[in-house]
Amino acid sequence: GAALLALPLSACGKESEGSSAGTSGAGSVGGTVGIAMPTRASERWLTDGKTLVQGLKAMEYKTKLVYGDDDPKAQVSQIEKLIQQGVDALVIAAIDNTSLNGVLKKAAAAEIPVIAYDRLILGTKDVDYYVSFDNEMVGRMQAHFIIEKLGLEDGEGPFNIELFAGSPDDNNTKYFFDGSMALLQPFLDSKQLIVPSGQTELEKITTLRWDGPTAQKRMTDILNGSYGAKKVDAILSPYDGISRGVLAALTLDGYGTGAKPLPIVTGQDAELASVKSIIAGGQSQTVYKDVRRLADAAANMVDEILNDRVVSIDNSVSYKNGVKPVPAVLLQPTSVDKSNYDVLITDEYFTADELK
Ligand code: BGC
Repeated sequence: GAALLALPLSACGKESEGSSAGTSGAGSVGGTVGIAMPTRASERWLTDGKTLVQGLKAMEYKTKLVYGDDDPKAQVSQIEKLIQQGVDALVIAAIDNTSLNGVLKKAAAAEIPVIAYDRLILGTKDVDYYVSFDNEMVGRMQAHFIIEKLGLEDGEGPFNIELFAGSPDDNNTKYFFDGSMALLQPFLDSKQLIVPSGQTELEKITTLRWDGPTAQKRMTDILNGSYGAKKVDAILSPYDGISRGVLAALTLDGYGTGAKPLPIVTGQDAELASVKSIIAGGQSQTVYKDVRRLADAAANMVDEILNDRVVSIDNSVSYKNGVKPVPAVLLQPTSVDKSNYDVLITDEYFTADELK
């Protein structure tokens, strides 16, 4: 574990006199927290929103929770509205990491502290803190799973692999991809891994808004265009929704039957459908991020900021947003596959019944 360092709010160039929350010695002082989440289309963000609201309520805050439905413009107007409504703090998971600069200027003018939630907001000084998971580690876990299952370290191969990445406007996409490639590149160089589509550059393999059907279409095109008699052995997928899209394309192409077993397919988020698929032998792996802990970390941070307490940040990490290093807290993810999925039950992320 990294050492936690307390950083005074003033060190981040943000004063808090303007906050209607005021200060008091012990406990929370109330106020309203605006929470802007990206989409309701993926399970995790529903859990994030719900847990943030619960955690903040338990600390006597009011909350205003909005979802941007993956539309960057809608998210900007939602945040504008929250500022007009006079929220005391903003917790934002950006849809497009560079679309918020204008609206965040307004937040700064109103002296509303801003926490970038899960996804770093780029190119602005008007973001105060960042809470997320170790995103590079997520990518490493996906790659590590592939390397282990294929026996690449024992010299096995060559194997065919295709690479999928997340949304190009999400700052996490590059971290996931770079984390994966740090481990996979040596095996591409040694030709133990071959990419028949030839698509290895991040720009060529992104999936706008993490959309499953978009990934399904790309997989279908690749199978039709580059495979012929060849067989896919592994898919690097950064997110469960993308993994399920890819699996749909593979299944339609005849994979999953005796002669053509499904390739190794990674994922992220431990979404219910994907965990069930893992148990049933479909998807191979996912990266479980207990977003309830992330929401709690953000809620605590809000409480520290609004009460003028020193803010708990992780001194060993600094995420640069193009303008400044943003003080951050990063939580650790867990790789989950068929052998250890019961961690989700022990953690009460799912009940045993839900996974049946
Ligand atoms: C999050 C992932 C999520 C993805 C799609 C990323 O920014 O870190 O957990 O799978 O967005 O929603």
